[in-house]
Amino acid sequence: MSPEVVIKIPLALAVRAGVREIWAQADNVAGALRELAAQAPRLKKYLFHPEGGFRDLIRVQAGDRLIGAESFDDSLLSSGQTLTLAPQARGGSDQSSVGSLVGSKPLPTLDQEEITRYSRHLLLPEIGVKGQKRLKAARVLVVGAGGLGSPLALYLAAAGVGTIGLIDDDEVELSNLQRQILHSQADLGRPKVFSGRDRLLAINPRINVEAMKTRLDRHNALDILKSWDLVCDGTDNFPTRYLLNDAAAFLGLPLVYGSIFQFEGQVSVFWAREGPCYRCLYPTPPSPGLAPSCGEAGVMGVITGLVGAIQAAEAIKLIVGEAKGLLGRLILVDSWLMEFTELAIEKDPGCPLCGRAPTITELVDYELFCGVETPAALEAPGLSALELKKRLASGPPLQILDIREPQEKELFKFPGAKEMSFEEITGRLGELDPTVDTIVICKIGQRSLFAIRALKKAGYNGPLFNLKEGANAWARDVDPTVAGY
Ligand SMILES: [Zn+2]
Repeated sequence: MSPEVVIKIPLALAVRAGVREIWAQADNVAGALRELAAQAPRLKKYLFHPEGGFRDLIRVQAGDRLIGAESFDDSLLSSGQTLTLAPQARGGSDQSSVGSLVGSKPLPTLDQEEITRYSRHLLLPEIGVKGQKRLKAARVLVVGAGGLGSPLALYLAAAGVGTIGLIDDDEVELSNLQRQILHSQADLGRPKVFSGRDRLLAINPRINVEAMKTRLDRHNALDILKSWDLVCDGTDNFPTRYLLNDAAAFLGLPLVYGSIFQFEGQVSVFWAREGPCYRCLYPTPPSPGLAPSCGEAGVMGVITGLVGAIQAAEAIKLIVGEAKGLLGRLILVDSWLMEFTELAIEKDPGCPLCGRAPTITELVDYELFCGVETPAALEAPGLSALELKKRLASGPPLQILDIREPQEKELFKFPGAKEMSFEEITGRLGELDPTVDTIVICKIGQRSLFAIRALKKAGYNGPLFNLKEGANAWARDVDPTVAGY
């Protein structure tokens, strides 16, 4: 029998594949990768040439060895071995400079104070006085004043980008301060764009900051984006990310992309006019259940700093010009293993947005496109934390099913709840009593809706209710001794 090996998949591809690792039985690396493609068919286009055969870009790491496509057939496997897919950059890094974004603008002058302020830039031949004037002339829009937008905007302001736009419709919350370094304790409750503007001007009063407290949507996006030279993606959701990509492509603007998940991040430059766009890499969004938000999955604060700072570097180089940037290259950052992986990305001739025969010719409904399901669409009866308290005190017997992760349950235990993780629930149906009401709880009342749907699909026929706003509502409205998180 062939040895059994585990194949680990980097985040950028895992989002496509829907899995982070698979088990495969194969004699050699080629066989293991074919098994991977069979188990995760959406990876096929990244593994194989359209004409057949493995792509040259794919490398497989086995222990200390990095194996290229030419050796896949000869590399024999042993049982229990771990293979890591490690796509390597080629082609894209040959990209030469695309020139300065503001090359055609009349350049402002620098006064004595600015010459002192930016002296460390002026000493660099790659930036110099001309580059610094280009930075001063530039208008850069930062979408999202949160985890990524914070370091991004701070470095752009310090670097002397003449006009920075901040767009966000949120207010500063206590749980933001673990990573969103634009904001301070004193800003709690303030709109993020205003506390962000104050912070940027405190660092550099010589720049202009345009604060827009609004949510970017398909009705306002083109109008808002059209007056900027460059757009930076500091968003935290797929609908806005696709919206930004499409709007930037229609306007011919480059998009400095960054995203984060737990300990990992991705960063690249998309520019349909000069190279690939986000849809060339990810034509369609992952299904909603596969991509939880940082609010539900957690995030190590410092990864936002790593990724946001790389985005700022890319933005500065695009403005100064003459630099090879991340156009055509995707950098994957794993801050837990502290590994940087590079993946070449090419313009996809079949891209629905920027390919040869585009099918997307105007902005669409991105919530619908990303399959974002509203609680109403999931249809489960709910009750509030206060109603649950009443039911527990006097009312027919019920059971509470807590589907939060173990580390969340450490923050507070729900009294008397049955505990199962989301993955376990359908396999442990038998432990639930279908003759009484079941109240399903999670952190904010969203995952619980997916859990209810999964239970129904699995054939559970007892009455199911959702705790509205989840355990956090219980902490807020019923039990002041525990904290929301
Ligand atoms: Zn494209």
